[in-house]
Amino acid sequence: MNAPAPQFFAFDNTYVRDLDEFYVLWKPTPATKPALIRLNEELARELGADPVALGSPDGIAMLAGSLIPGGAEPIAQAYAGHQFGHFSPQLGDGRALLLGEVIDPNGERRDIAFKGSGRTPFSRNGDGKCALGPALREYIISEAMYALGIPTTRSLAVVATGDMVRRDRAQPGAVLTRVAASHVRVGTFQFFAAHQGPEQVKRLADYVIARHYPALAASPQPYLDLLTAVGERQAELVARWLGVGFIHGVMNTDNMTLSGETIDYGPCAFMEAYNPSAVFSSIDSGGRYAYGKQAGIARWNLARLAETLLTLIDTDDNRAVQAATAVIDALPERQAVHWLRVFRAKLGIDENGYFGRAAESDRILIDDFLRILKHNRLDFTVAFRALFHAASGDPTRLNVLMSSAPDIAEWHSRWHARQPTRPAELLTAMQHANPCYIPRNHRVEAALDAAVDDNNLAPFERLLAAIQSPFDERAADAEYAEPAPAEFTASYMTFCGT
Ligand code: AMP
Ligand code: MG
Repeated sequence: MNAPAPQFFAFDNTYVRDLDEFYVLWKPTPATKPALIRLNEELARELGADPVALGSPDGIAMLAGSLIPGGAEPIAQAYAGHQFGHFSPQLGDGRALLLGEVIDPNGERRDIAFKGSGRTPFSRNGDGKCALGPALREYIISEAMYALGIPTTRSLAVVATGDMVRRDRAQPGAVLTRVAASHVRVGTFQFFAAHQGPEQVKRLADYVIARHYPALAASPQPYLDLLTAVGERQAELVARWLGVGFIHGVMNTDNMTLSGETIDYGPCAFMEAYNPSAVFSSIDSGGRYAYGKQAGIARWNLARLAETLLTLIDTDDNRAVQAATAVIDALPERQAVHWLRVFRAKLGIDENGYFGRAAESDRILIDDFLRILKHNRLDFTVAFRALFHAASGDPTRLNVLMSSAPDIAEWHSRWHARQPTRPAELLTAMQHANPCYIPRNHRVEAALDAAVDDNNLAPFERLLAAIQSPFDERAADAEYAEPAPAEFTASYMTFCGT
């Protein structure tokens, strides 16, 4: 008799149980020679798992896809999606697998999934694999987002498979273990709306309500409320991205979650000098997913979600369209509310009610600062951090900025007049709205190059340590706070993590 498979997680798999027909049962491809690259011990503990067991030979084999842990029921999830505005009726987990769900000690249910674990029925022409560089990229950026307080999927481990992956050049292959509130995407709804009928969409919607929006179950119009609630979470999420200069890079509908977490760290990047048209993704030549377009794209994606829910919203087509349109039309206002909240915190100015003249004049104050940054090509992160230091009584950095951007002086007097003094809470909120350390593109690339080309993980570990405490300045980490040389940023391009 075979020994029972080792237990690493206390799995409880509702997706498999409740949503048959929404996936294919599938197994990961075993790896040739699994080697642990990085284990997130803190996250392991948060999931109620034992980091020592995960780092053991069995644990590493499991994290490479070579050993299926007890209680896991691995599946490839079906989804569709609009990619750069064009509908693909069948995408799905082509190089990913959902191992199962765990309930952590706080009672939160979370997916444990692989990326790069081999071909599946949804792979189309892809090889089902993930190269080490992109796996480490997702690890570092998702953990940076987490440290910045932004809702995100997280990274539990990166394990090298010992197999090479063919990309523009041969690269070591890896499996990333991703932890998410769930992997249900706008594209999941699109798949079932396109291929099945309203009953299947309803099953999925009921599942999402139970899992992510339980309060809506009692609503007389749960599906319309679901659309509103997802819109609200996405409005908040994108505002938070904008607050740290994050550019997702590939906001296709299959990369937008119903949970409101950031997902799929492919060609994402952090903006350096402020510029709303900043875009780094090599495949986004039209700038569809540029920094300043992200709120509009989120609305576009939510309109695609709305289309899949129409038959559930009302049996009368016209009434359904009217109700859904009203939700989508209300989104700009909700996005503006979240944007104002995020940027008021960045300026260290208190809430003054949203509507009315105070909000309007705050918006102008924020926009004027952004205009100054753009005009003088100032680094977004450095400039806002300088405001925090000035507000805390040390104007040195702001004075340095002012010497090259004299238009800050006039703005400064208006900023000071708006909030002459700050109670401690406002200052703390300002500190947490203005990180000192973000995963700067040149540092990320240098860390990945060292890991992939020289087998040297020291730069990756150092960068990770810096971005994990983004708000407290440390002299030893000064280099991580510095912008990239302008020449680097001018030619910087990111690629999809395929
Ligand atoms: P992404 O660009 O990562 O959001 O992926 C878009 C779609 O392409 C998803 O259905 C992925 O599963 C699929 N895909 C991406 N890379 C690969 C790959 N190397 N092998 C198979 N499918 C892939
Ligand atoms: Mg994707």
